[in-house]
Amino acid sequence: MSNTYYRDGKKTVEFVPYKGEKMDTCATIHDEYVCCNVKVLKSVSNCPFDCSYCFLQNYLTNPQLEVVDEHEKLIQEIKSKIKAQPWRFFRIGTWELGDSLALENETGQAQKFIDYFSTVNNAVLELKTKSDVVDPILNCKHNQKTVVSWSMNTDYIIRTEEHKTASLKDRMVAIKKVVDAGYLIGLHFDPMIMYDDWANDYKDLLTQLAHIVPSNQIAWLSIGSLRFNPEQKRLIENNFRGSKLTCQEMVKGSDNKVRYVKPLRIEMYSLMFNKMRELWGQDPFIYLCMERWDMWDKIMDIQPRAIGELDYMFADHFHRFFPSVNPQIPNLDLYMKYQST
Ligand code: SF4
Repeated sequence: MSNTYYRDGKKTVEFVPYKGEKMDTCATIHDEYVCCNVKVLKSVSNCPFDCSYCFLQNYLTNPQLEVVDEHEKLIQEIKSKIKAQPWRFFRIGTWELGDSLALENETGQAQKFIDYFSTVNNAVLELKTKSDVVDPILNCKHNQKTVVSWSMNTDYIIRTEEHKTASLKDRMVAIKKVVDAGYLIGLHFDPMIMYDDWANDYKDLLTQLAHIVPSNQIAWLSIGSLRFNPEQKRLIENNFRGSKLTCQEMVKGSDNKVRYVKPLRIEMYSLMFNKMRELWGQDPFIYLCMERWDMWDKIMDIQPRAIGELDYMFADHFHRFFPSVNPQIPNLDLYMKYQST
């Protein structure tokens, strides 16, 4: 795939009709890892931003930036799927193949979803972004049924690897606005990336965020590290000359993705987990993305063994900390029995 081919599709947005089912389970789900079973609604495809580690450069066969404009049909699909499993507390994100808010000024899509989710009992919407486009959603009636989340990184990584995304300063201003509008907030420190001063920079990042995001508005905090399919290495090196992403030693995992060696991942995750607990206390829900149960054991001293168990832990956390968002007491047996659905 050439440079031009990959980037050309990002320049203009095309509105497309609803075709086939759009709601699915997050594509990275894998039996060997403790996945969270988040559901995704593929309502956008491709992204105006240009992160060097983005898996889309290796995944999309059609590079055209597309948005499904038949919102009612998307909502109908969600409606029928969450009705079929009334016992489940669904988390549904619109970020699988793009950014949930980057195009909001052009599409108005998030506002329609926020409005719908404000009325449902067994689901929350997750809008995940690296943008600062939040003004259109500030006055929506959300009932805390939408989690607005940011993929966060250090100033250095944003400047060197997350091209065209909002700067750290602009993301912070946007987060503060969304906190003030009463939304629940998600913060994803994923992918964490190694470089000389990574430890101090990630700690500073958390400290800055703790000044603007109160513990009682945190829906979840996630930690994960750089990973990609081996064939993506060449693409990164071709598409992003000068990027240092591929310099570090990496090893292949059971999901065929390469990631940092285990002792390094343990060092990174421990630093983040301990600092999060120091800044925000014991209440926020913290999870690891795409790691085996033994990593959870080492970092957090808990041992979720299965996808259903982690899915249940989210539902249980919401029921205990945000009962108006998940009024239902979750049943672990059902989460385990239907974990692959
Ligand atoms: S914001 Fe996400 S989808 Fe967009 S280029 Fe970056 S990694 Fe890819």
